[in-house]
Amino acid sequence: MAALRVMVGVKRVIDYAVKVRVASDGGSVQTQGVKHSLNPFCEIALEEAVRLRERGAASEVIAVSVGTRACQETLRTALAVGADRAVLAEVGEGAALGPREAALALAGLVGRLRPDLVLLGKQAIDDDCNQTGQILAAILDWPQGTFASGVAVEGPWLRVQREVDGGLETLRLRLPAVLTADLRLNQPRYATLPNIMKAKKKPLEVVGGGEVGVPPAPPRLRVLSLSEPPPRQGGQRVDDVTTLVTRLRDSGCI
Ligand code: AMP
Repeated sequence: MAALRVMVGVKRVIDYAVKVRVASDGGSVQTQGVKHSLNPFCEIALEEAVRLRERGAASEVIAVSVGTRACQETLRTALAVGADRAVLAEVGEGAALGPREAALALAGLVGRLRPDLVLLGKQAIDDDCNQTGQILAAILDWPQGTFASGVAVEGPWLRVQREVDGGLETLRLRLPAVLTADLRLNQPRYATLPNIMKAKKKPLEVVGGGEVGVPPAPPRLRVLSLSEPPPRQGGQRVDDVTTLVTRLRDSGCI
């Protein structure tokens, strides 16, 4: 099989080091004036795609994002890490995207870009939906390898290693396929300064979200309320296991 065209879904999220706060409306997270970055699991998916190209298994890596204009910055980062080109499916500022809406848009981008392989993160650290890859594979009716910790291209097949509760599972998937990247798949590289400069000249196309299938209706999944966790209580020392078990039982933990 000829070298693969790989599409990587990259999501812009609040940076992992930021302390997330509930917004004054009580139903969303405060995003204004907060540092955003590329979702860490998307970095791993992108790194794997770039490595496939470096090994000659992929011919092109296309980073795509569904979101507001601000996602262009995320896509520039993906280009600096090694994507060849990028496409933003743009939605308006207030538009809420659930996993279904994101997956419908990614499916629309698959229709346009015709990749052989779609690589996504196993989860985004903003809402922890962890479903976009699975919904996308269902929409496309493509095989899926979720939580991948190892990937090898074998002609028209992919060999995928997955970490499951009982150990490691190995799957063979026929291309085209959808993969989602687990933490141990690889160690993503940093973008170097020369590559950040070069990325400014790489192509970044913007298409309307509606053109690729973002539904005009509000998402089917709605967040009813959000609250911050209660402050942590101080720890307690106990002298022996019997007291520990009694305390846990009294507090309803066991
Ligand atoms: P989630 O299902 O939201 O936890 O996201 C899982 C993965 O789906 C992410 O790591 C991305 O690869 C992909 N994804 C989700 N939403 C988007 C989006 N708006 N744009 C691009 N990729 C996305």
